[in-house]
Amino acid sequence: MDRQQEFVLRTVEERDIRFIRLWFTDVLGVLKSVAVAPAELESAFTEGIGFDGSAIEGLTRVYEADMVARPDPTTFQVLPWRGERHGTGRMFCDILTPDGEPSLADSRNVLKRQLARSAEEGFTFYTHPEVEFYLFNQPKSAGEPLVPVDDGGYFDHLARGSTHDFRRAAITMLESMGISVEFSHHEAGPGQNEIDLRYADALTTADNLMTFRTVVKEVALEQGVYASFMPKPLATHPGSGMHTHMSLFEDDRNAFHEPGAQFELSKTARQFISGLMVHAGEITAITNQHVNSYKRLWGGQEAPSYISWGHNNRSALVRVPMYKPGKGNSSRVEYRALDSAANPYLAFAVLLAAGMKGIEEGYDLIEHTEDAVWDLTSAERRSLGIKPLPRNLSEAIEAMEQSELVAATLGEHVFQYVLSNKRQEWDAYSAQVTPFELERFLQVL
Ligand code: GLN
Ligand code: MG
Ligand code: MG
Ligand code: MG
Repeated sequence: MDRQQEFVLRTVEERDIRFIRLWFTDVLGVLKSVAVAPAELESAFTEGIGFDGSAIEGLTRVYEADMVARPDPTTFQVLPWRGERHGTGRMFCDILTPDGEPSLADSRNVLKRQLARSAEEGFTFYTHPEVEFYLFNQPKSAGEPLVPVDDGGYFDHLARGSTHDFRRAAITMLESMGISVEFSHHEAGPGQNEIDLRYADALTTADNLMTFRTVVKEVALEQGVYASFMPKPLATHPGSGMHTHMSLFEDDRNAFHEPGAQFELSKTARQFISGLMVHAGEITAITNQHVNSYKRLWGGQEAPSYISWGHNNRSALVRVPMYKPGKGNSSRVEYRALDSAANPYLAFAVLLAAGMKGIEEGYDLIEHTEDAVWDLTSAERRSLGIKPLPRNLSEAIEAMEQSELVAATLGEHVFQYVLSNKRQEWDAYSAQVTPFELERFLQVL
């Protein structure tokens, strides 16, 4: 046992923790949990806890079903919503094969592998996500239309607005679990909120996002409403994105910063942006993994539809936020396609891989644009070299199938699993006869 593991054992005893939940994430980004008693913890650290991988999306093929979850003691936290007495703790797990090798199907491991590759080139990858989501009233009966909890808009401060209390409760819980929140506000849609996490290394951020979704759902239930991270729940209101700010550090120096350069962006940053742009289409099935994700991307309302970059341009896929003179370490680029329903481990892995590819290959960067790219004609976009993102999940799957970059980053197992799962999702969706079709065609045809 190492010191971290001993620390967890001691804390469990001192704080009278009765259950320890072991958390891990399936390939589609859904949180899984198994609770163990304190007496089992020591063997969980040394040998791991066995489980049936074939029952979990994407983890194994049936003939190699045994898997082992081993908790990472550095992620230990007490769950605040379970109360102080007889408390519950949790740790994130790495998934291992029965021989103790890291599982190729574990998304946390996919991200760790990609982080190790960029560490070999001297870089640490930091991310800071802005998470948007909606709060709806609990439906009184099944099939009732969605009712957002309020009528607020962007940055609205509603007198006695219930979402202040909601955000305050959620943020207090997050902070008590060691997750720092930088900003929070009402977003543009009715009942829509945004909470922005402080930047951290990408593995920590991905773990934090899994916790974040759980906390937000828990607080919503406590307050008698429910929270949804669905990318586009309301056709005529903005979708929920998860804009993610990214930077690379070499030791404690921000490798994206160069005083005096355009937007104070270093060559490394420009190449990273170019990598994101060149590979954007291929990674979209990971960053925007559901049929519904494309309703957001192509539904206007400040979601990006085209592959362009700009400075303070909210129609751009990649935005370079305003830089603050003398604050070079805050240089970063914001990727705006990502949505709140992505698997954060896989999404950060492919974003990093795309950016790193731009650095390794020294890709050229097209001109930035400060126009609203939606308002340009398609001829104007063509002449500026601006291409569209995939228009739907089917186009995204096609782009991903051709991608050596995504195959190498995810590894063959996860790559094939995601493709086949997403093809099934597309086929099931395409087979639907929708209310839209009935309304439009049934009577007139
Ligand atoms: N909700 C918008 C999106 O889908 C973003 C709005 C904003 O934060 N400017 O990306
Ligand atoms: Mg924001
Ligand atoms: Mg926002
Ligand atoms: Mg943003």
